[in-house]
Amino acid sequence: MREAYLDNSATTPVCRQAADKVMEMMLENYGNPSSLHTKGIEAQRELDRARSVLAGALKCRADELTFTSGATEANNLALLGGAYARRRRGNRVVISAVAHSSVMAAAAQLEKEGFEVVRIGTDAYGRIDPAEFAAAITPKTILTSMELVNNETGAIQPVSCMARAVKKVNAPALIHVDAVQAFGKIVVSPQKLGAHLLSVSAHKIRGPKGVGALYVQHGTHLLPRLYGGEQERKLRPGTEALPLIAGFGAAVQALLALSEGTAHATALRTLLLEKLGTMAGITINSPDDGLPYILNFSVPGIRSETMLHHLAQHGVYVSSGSACARGHKSHVLEAMKLDNDRIDSAIRVSFGHQNTEEDVLQLANALQTGLDTLTRRRER
Ligand code: PMP
Repeated sequence: MREAYLDNSATTPVCRQAADKVMEMMLENYGNPSSLHTKGIEAQRELDRARSVLAGALKCRADELTFTSGATEANNLALLGGAYARRRRGNRVVISAVAHSSVMAAAAQLEKEGFEVVRIGTDAYGRIDPAEFAAAITPKTILTSMELVNNETGAIQPVSCMARAVKKVNAPALIHVDAVQAFGKIVVSPQKLGAHLLSVSAHKIRGPKGVGALYVQHGTHLLPRLYGGEQERKLRPGTEALPLIAGFGAAVQALLALSEGTAHATALRTLLLEKLGTMAGITINSPDDGLPYILNFSVPGIRSETMLHHLAQHGVYVSSGSACARGHKSHVLEAMKLDNDRIDSAIRVSFGHQNTEEDVLQLANALQTGLDTLTRRRER
């Protein structure tokens, strides 16, 4: 059966360049960058290369990047390491109520430890109001965090409001941006966004799973979450996962030009919206001005899992809310105050550079047969 993988916000197929690089690093360039002999020096060179490639893409200094095991770790390091480092200067942490679970859970942990955590909600399309977010930032705020692109709805959030608000009240706050779903799709520049900390992940841009990075602005102090050797400026000790890191670098190098990717995703989204428009009862949950790569909609009356299963039987892979929220009601759609029927029947389609119009047509056909058969079964 032909397969249409339309779940690229969950993860992406690894591109050939990254896969080849991972293999090369495992089989040939297998040294430990800390070793003093030739094998170590060659490995160190690859580590440096990957770091400068990523620094080039983020327009930052190479020594501002710390490789981690992914964005979950980067987000935890940012929130916990940032809050602990500043705890003497205040107690308040302000985050997006629709953040990824790795931010939500790290903030909940801070709350348990006595920090005051404020979560800022959204409008009905998942968009944060910059004035509302800014108003929550007080002179006692030590950390603020927002996602640049929401992983469930594609909403592009007003992250620059954090820097402006922090400056206005002269708060001792570190500003964190979760740029996982934005990187490789729109311009991501920590400097332009006024961020001290910014997280990215390789497996959302056709790199390998299990590697990400945290941008830490030069001069910003964080408390590490791990203690060990001298790697990653002691902020993230442990022998570097060089095959994954070098694969990440190769995936960054292989990224399409942003405009090319946007045009492609917009064409696919337009086609899908046109098809959805012909189907009765579908409601769109994503904002019009969101990232074109993500489209969230509800098929009221048919539970997400039921539709997901039906689509998978037709070779079509999408997601219900976010893959990380398996089995739970999406906290994002709840924050948007959608009714339960819409939350329970939400489907997230996310496009990748490898998708074609044929994939969208296959999805539309499978959705239509799902609507016909599953609704009928429910009515019986
Ligand atoms: N933040 C966002 C916005 C994400 O979408 C994800 C992945 N679902 C993460 C963080 C976590 O990334 P990783 O899988 O690399 O831990």
